Amino acid sequence: MATYKEVLPNYGKLDIYINGKFISSETHEYLKVFNPAKDEVIAQVPNTLKEEVDEAVESAYEAYLKWRETPIPTRVQYLFRIKDVLERHKDEIARIIVQNHGKIYDEALGEVRRAIENVETAIGVAYLLQKGEYLENVAGGIDEYLVREPLGVAAIISPFNFPVMVPFWFIPYALAVGDTVVVKPSEITPVPFHWVMKLLHEEARLPPGLINVVYGLGNVGEALISHKKVFGVAFVGSTRVARIIYKRVGELGKKALLQAGAKNFAVVMPDAKMDRTVTNLISSFFGNTGQRCLANSVLVPVGEAYDKVVPKFIELAKQLKLGYGLDEDVDMGPMVTRKSLERVHYYIEKGLEEGAKLSLDGRNVKVEKYPNGYFIGPTVFEDVTPEMTIAREEIFGPVASVIKASTLDEVIDMVNKSEYGNATSIFTSSGEVARKYRRSVNVGNVGINIGIAAPMAFFPFGGRKESFFGIVHGQVDSLDFFTDKKIVIERWW
Ligand code: NAD
Repeated sequence: MATYKEVLPNYGKLDIYINGKFISSETHEYLKVFNPAKDEVIAQVPNTLKEEVDEAVESAYEAYLKWRETPIPTRVQYLFRIKDVLERHKDEIARIIVQNHGKIYDEALGEVRRAIENVETAIGVAYLLQKGEYLENVAGGIDEYLVREPLGVAAIISPFNFPVMVPFWFIPYALAVGDTVVVKPSEITPVPFHWVMKLLHEEARLPPGLINVVYGLGNVGEALISHKKVFGVAFVGSTRVARIIYKRVGELGKKALLQAGAKNFAVVMPDAKMDRTVTNLISSFFGNTGQRCLANSVLVPVGEAYDKVVPKFIELAKQLKLGYGLDEDVDMGPMVTRKSLERVHYYIEKGLEEGAKLSLDGRNVKVEKYPNGYFIGPTVFEDVTPEMTIAREEIFGPVASVIKASTLDEVIDMVNKSEYGNATSIFTSSGEVARKYRRSVNVGNVGINIGIAAPMAFFPFGGRKESFFGIVHGQVDSLDFFTDKKIVIERWW
């Protein structure tokens, strides 16, 4: 029995959004957008032409010239309107996220909640954090002060896995400080953000040109980044693409805030509260079907923790119910595309080839009502070593690799040798152990007895090593990305 209804069965050809108007792209190249639980086409998305990208940037630039002059209390009223629209329509937005991405309804609703929190935090940024500094009499009769200025048009390029939350990691802060944006959502999951723009268009009545949207592949991203009037790019996605963009942005001399791939380790100490630890680990490894940059991917029980945690972890993983996230009692949805499913199968083969023991095999699961969906069940490998491919590379699916460790120092060494540095979690009852761990690991986010180390909007978000490129992190810290500081020193004879 269906609990939640799809908003529409099909969203047709998605229009790009320029200068406050939905426009049908002139391109002949449209890409199919799928519902991954059903393997059905639910929309078509244009690979926007370069001239249209240029038009979107010009429109954002024209809007910026007026928007930066708009008083802050007026700008903030528009942010309140955006919050109001998201709040009132969160259920319908969540259902479209499920339909296009495949995550379960509660996860989708949580995603919209996170987007709203960023709007709320940006309202605080507008009023409180962008204030400048002033120092009187730095020399005889001379005063000096600092003002933050907006920079113009920012490019926002987002990944498939959080189609609404990730654009909202940036949009509200850009608008709060007086910038405008051109957003390029993922070509795989463009429908939820498209729907958000439709709602904002109808109900928020923002000044035209503040938020512009173009769709498509890497060529559209490249056209956007290289436009002269774009001052910088806020990107979230894979390390492979982040590296391409970082190089390009370097050549062009622009700003970059690039949040990239991950390989996260969860450590369990023998003194952890095992029942709560295991349930927390299950949602960390298999929530969103493992397609979260903060999902744990490698499980490292230390010493006696192994026997206390691994059998129970496997037992609970086996019980997860797969299905369509809009149906009742579903714990885990499908992978987002057939290609992603094939990638996970590839890594499972690789684990077997390299000698890991496949203790729980999620391949060939049958989901009765949805025989064509891109499903794979929770998968657990034991006897994994840190050198194996499955312990090093980002799988981005519901596959847990278990590595046995004898000491905490061994785990710290393992985490610090990883190419990635997005997040890690430790489960323990010892404050001393937790403190040592959080101080020793070279990662951006640490969870202590928490499996998904997600910072709230009012804390910055970013990783280290191959998980982040740039200087300024996301969420509240993006204030420093979207503004620059001007110093004025003055004397009045
Ligand atoms: P992806 O890198 O394939 O795509 C991300 C975006 O970049 C898409 O919009 C895509 O069209 C665009 N793009 C592709 N090539 C480009 C190019 N040459 N120039 C400009 N834009 C280009 O990532 P994905 O598969 O959509 O998302 C999954 C990845 O995102 C995972 O690696 C995951 O770890 C990462 N991720 C990281 C965070 C974080 O905060 N660190 C958060 C979410 C996801």
